[in-house]
Amino acid sequence: MRVFPILTLALGLGLAGCDNAPTGGSDYAAASGLPRATKLRVSTSGESAKTLFGPVQAPSTQAPESFGGYAKGCLAGAEELPETGPTWQAMRLSRNRNWGHPALIDFLERLSAKAARQPGWAGLYIGDLSQPRGGPMSSGHASHQIGLDADIWMLPPSRLDLSAAERENLSSISMRRAGGAYVNAKWTKAHMEIIKAAASDPAVARIFVFPGAKVQMCKDAGADRDWLRKVRPWWGHHYHFHVRLACPAGDRTCVDQAPPPPGDGCKDAEGWVDRILNPPPPDPNAKPTPPKPPITLADMPAQCASVLGAR
Ligand SMILES: [Zn+2]
Repeated sequence: MRVFPILTLALGLGLAGCDNAPTGGSDYAAASGLPRATKLRVSTSGESAKTLFGPVQAPSTQAPESFGGYAKGCLAGAEELPETGPTWQAMRLSRNRNWGHPALIDFLERLSAKAARQPGWAGLYIGDLSQPRGGPMSSGHASHQIGLDADIWMLPPSRLDLSAAERENLSSISMRRAGGAYVNAKWTKAHMEIIKAAASDPAVARIFVFPGAKVQMCKDAGADRDWLRKVRPWWGHHYHFHVRLACPAGDRTCVDQAPPPPGDGCKDAEGWVDRILNPPPPDPNAKPTPPKPPITLADMPAQCASVLGAR
């Protein structure tokens, strides 16, 4: 199957003109900067890379490797998260986003087994990972591009025999109150225990969750708080939490995000909550941020062209 039109490629070492946003600026979608030597010159039009990666149905038959950053990269040799396992179900199968680096699949198997020990949790309902070859998605998500991000539903699974149709139609539940400043009555100790188990896993770099949940966990954590450092407040993330793994050892062009600042991050989370409850007045001089241009193959690590073109 040919997955994209033949491109005339010329590898340019350090010659590509465009440059990426600096890393480390945002907690979430950072780490897209790449060494210039890995840039690719593509003599075709700057076609949006999501139109190239989005329609591809199967992973490449290459050795597994994550190339680039969480929000600008791709994935070779992806592994499929089985649609149903002993302690999980993949949701929204029609999206075909249950693909990840083998390290991510291993992690999800480990975490779901731990979740299944929580009362009322048969395991985990798992949302989007990555597309079969990673890359920018046709809709949603700036990140999830290199097979190291996963969305995990907040809804406690009562059963793990949902049909494909049920997995399309069932919805997760929101955990937030007051715009995310607080958790609501659906939040349980088990949610914290599962997020704690995820954050305590050495493979994990960061977890994103709405600010009120972080503050609640800061209150309830007690003396054992080191794991809180990896739990970062972010917009959204009240129907699911988002786990991001660190680059697997040996994936040499995978771009890690700068580690979270030292400490438990609880003061920072309180700042988020304050800004939700008392939003600063709009800046009359603020300029609207122009929309980001779509990522093209030329913006991505050179290896992504071969990931796309490989059998
Ligand atoms: Zn996500």
